[in-house]
Amino acid sequence: MTTDSGRARYESLLKRIEDRLGESVEDKKSARFELPVVDVMWEGQKTFLRNFSEFPKILRRDPDKVLQYLSKEFAVPAEKIGDKAMFIGRRAPDDFTRLFQIYVKDYLECPTCGSPDTKTNRENRISFLICEACGAKSTLKGKYA
Ligand SMILES: [Zn+2]
Repeated sequence: MTTDSGRARYESLLKRIEDRLGESVEDKKSARFELPVVDVMWEGQKTFLRNFSEFPKILRRDPDKVLQYLSKEFAVPAEKIGDKAMFIGRRAPDDFTRLFQIYVKDYLECPTCGSPDTKTNRENRISFLICEACGAKSTLKGKYA
């Protein structure tokens, strides 16, 4: 009896620790920006980013702008085909991941508070980043906005 209740107590303690660890992991996740995993397929000398449409959606940016960014960074022609994007030449999934990470830094993150909850605004041919979290307005770091 004593061992049983001791064990139960131990287990509930473990459960509590696990819950707490789970929470802190969850906190970090929501604070950081989570990009979808890139889904790449090759066909001859073409690369298809099969889940392209997920990125502009989560980035909350114009799909054409995002495609233009990738196309210019890769320096190859690109085309949107439904939810997919097609690029000339073979690109590794890591190439896309790296570019999207830079995109988040240069086109999304508020330089003042680091929040990715921003929108862009164009005034007199200059693009600004307006933060929905802290209200800061800054010039956009990225070149292709
Ligand atoms: Zn901010």
